[in-house]
Amino acid sequence: MYDVTVIGAGPVGSRTAELIARQGFKVALLEKNAEVGLPVRCTGLISSRLKDIVSDLPSNAILNRIDSARFFATSKNFELRSKRPFYVVDREKLDKFLFLRARQAGASADTGMLFKDFEISSNDDEEFLTLHTSKGKVQTKLLVGADGPVSTVAEKAGLERPANMMTGLQMTVPGEYEASTAELIFSKELTPDFFGWVVPLSDKQARVGVAARQNALAGLRTLVEKRTSGLVKAADVKPDVAGKINFGLMQRTSAERVMVVGDAACQVKPFSGGGVVYGLLGAGYAANAAVKALKSDDFSAAFLKDEYDDKWKEHLASPIKRGLLYRKILLGSDRRMNLMFRLGGAGKSMLEGFDADLL
Ligand SMILES: Cc1cc2nc3c(=O)[nH]c(=O)nc-3n(C[C@H](O)[C@H](O)[C@H](O)COP(=O)(O)OP(=O)(O)OC[C@H]3O[C@@H](n4cnc5c(N)ncnc54)[C@H](O)[C@@H]3O)c2cc1C
Repeated sequence: MYDVTVIGAGPVGSRTAELIARQGFKVALLEKNAEVGLPVRCTGLISSRLKDIVSDLPSNAILNRIDSARFFATSKNFELRSKRPFYVVDREKLDKFLFLRARQAGASADTGMLFKDFEISSNDDEEFLTLHTSKGKVQTKLLVGADGPVSTVAEKAGLERPANMMTGLQMTVPGEYEASTAELIFSKELTPDFFGWVVPLSDKQARVGVAARQNALAGLRTLVEKRTSGLVKAADVKPDVAGKINFGLMQRTSAERVMVVGDAACQVKPFSGGGVVYGLLGAGYAANAAVKALKSDDFSAAFLKDEYDDKWKEHLASPIKRGLLYRKILLGSDRRMNLMFRLGGAGKSMLEGFDADLL
């Protein structure tokens, strides 16, 4: 019987497993893919707060540093310098590093193991959960779903998720770039729901992407051809990164004996879709709540709400709500967007105050 079983060895699952295992509890970490970190579903633009959380992040996981963002609308653009740099991170390396740390802390990890469902079981002494997986049954006192934006754990636990699902597509392309400047392109032609992004790896190569509720590929084709000045033709665009992004404030992220964390809990910046920093912060709250539940032998929905939902929301609910508001203002309509850009100074100062929260 495990004390805690974590589903999903993304950065958030591995971090949660590591923090709980370090306290001496018996932790299982189950991942459906054969290899942790692949396929990559991320641009890797992560605020330097990552280093506050993962202080020994290997330097070879950082591919580039970004210190400003240029915002483009149809008629105007402006540039914001970030107070702290952003890293362009190699997500495969980051995920593998955090997975190794979880194993070194004592978590027992298994890959190629798909979580399917769970039920509440009991024997003479105690109640527990039986998990059904592609490799058989697992018994655990507590289940943590860190299984990403399409979370089976959230679904099976009846935790309602916002209906804001987008698809993000990206391709690494050659071209001419300012190596330390990311570009955000707001245009209904590319996507009515989000923006197109250009995140340089160097002055000769960038990750170019688009997210949308529907037909992100058409937007990506347009952006890649335009931004590479025809070096890569629309017809030759083949995304090398594809994934889902869901955002919004979930009403509940825990139920009896279950918590969800990271993308599974929509701990995601609603404006940029960035989820690594919020998810790693969420992992800290989930691990604390798990340790308290194990120590007090209380896995009730009420206990987990107090110790997990309420605590992470105290920290992240306000920035998530602010991100939702910014989405409305900037992504609402071309007209409103252009007005914002025409305001220039006002729009810029509104964004400047919150750049780290937004991106
Ligand atoms: C195109 C794109 C670009 C992005 N760019 C950025 C960015 O620049 N910066 C940023 O901060 N964020 C970015 N994000 C978001 C970021 O990738 C996520 O927020 C982050 O990966 C969340 O980590 P996680 O551990 O919660 O989930 P994930 O990284 O999704 O990990 C979940 C893990 O669970 C596993 N899993 C799923 N279901 C099961 C199951 N049933 N059984 C077992 N295992 C399961 C998956 O295989 C996966 O390994 C981007 C997302 C997309 C799609």
